[in-house]
Amino acid sequence: MIYWDYAAAAPPYDEVVQTMEQIMKLHYANPSSMHRAGLEAGRLISRSREVCAAALSVQPEEIVFTSGATESNNLAIKGAALQYQGRGRHIITTELEHPSVYESCVQLQKLGFEVTFIAPESSGVIDPFRIAEAVRRDTILVSVMHVNNEVGTVQPVGAIGTAIKAVNPRTLFHVDGVQGYGKLPVSLKEWGADLYSLSPHKVRGPRGVGLLYVKKGVELFPLLTGGSHESGQRAGTENVPAIVASAKAVRMSGEQRVELCGRLLPLRNRLLHFLRGIPEFVVNSNEEGAPHIVHFSYPGMKGEVMARKLEELGMMVSTRSACSSRLAEPSRILLSMGRDIPAALGGIRISLGDSHTEADVAALEQAVVAAVKALKVAEGGM
Ligand code: PLP
Repeated sequence: MIYWDYAAAAPPYDEVVQTMEQIMKLHYANPSSMHRAGLEAGRLISRSREVCAAALSVQPEEIVFTSGATESNNLAIKGAALQYQGRGRHIITTELEHPSVYESCVQLQKLGFEVTFIAPESSGVIDPFRIAEAVRRDTILVSVMHVNNEVGTVQPVGAIGTAIKAVNPRTLFHVDGVQGYGKLPVSLKEWGADLYSLSPHKVRGPRGVGLLYVKKGVELFPLLTGGSHESGQRAGTENVPAIVASAKAVRMSGEQRVELCGRLLPLRNRLLHFLRGIPEFVVNSNEEGAPHIVHFSYPGMKGEVMARKLEELGMMVSTRSACSSRLAEPSRILLSMGRDIPAALGGIRISLGDSHTEADVAALEQAVVAAVKALKVAEGGM
């Protein structure tokens, strides 16, 4: 079996697994406790915060640990909306966002906030001008993802940040960086980002832990109340093993980014070229996209059927993003990019990572050819 679902969850580094085990065994104390063991656990969190901050070129006190990027996105969006509603109740996002951003905005609409959802070009790219046009005096927040989790499109977040601040310098800019970190350069200062979400398990760290960068001076209305953890921004006893292991994964994946992308790009390009040669397919990714995501549609064939056939042939792929893959509806992302319903129902996402080789890609290509052949025979026989 070959695993092609790194964008959903990447296998952890050996060092991450070892760190988790070691910290669980040795540093089980509550980091808020005042005794020696508690203080030691607290120091491990502080050190992890420094490591993550260094990886993002920000200050340690600007990093908040959460339970995952879903929570980071919820906290960024709802926390900003509730905190700054006195300034205005208008929010801008895009039609391409991950459900944790999209649904947070839909929920805010139900609470009386006005949300503008910007549509992409057919390539899946958001035009910064379309964002700038939508920014108003009462726009408190704009949220745009760096890399789309379904098709891998890279958004011009630097140009978007500049465009927002030129119209309204007080509008906060949130970037969902989950699929970009470890694959593309990150420059929060240059982008003008006030908030940035990161998910360690996409970069070979543990699950159930996330990061949110909150620029100094930005206040968020806490969604979880309780103790004064994370400087009062997120209550709850910290997951010390996961936080320490996350810092390791964030540092290592940041350091290995250029080398990893150097290996993934030729594999990704080979796959794109191969898929474009199959007349039944519509290829939804391109060479300008992130190096680890390749997405295609087989219009008229449900994505799940193709994915199941590929699994029978030894290839584990996904139909779209993991959080949406159990939905029977057409992909919101593909519809927004102008694809028709059969194409939006027939999506397959292949996501690449460290372990993949040319031989793996060759095996995948063979499996895809065999799957199409088998499915056509099955269809013909029905
Ligand atoms: N944002 C994007 C773009 C994602 O791809 C994901 C996960 O797939 C998330 C947010 C949510 O991350 P987590 O799994 O850490 O909650």
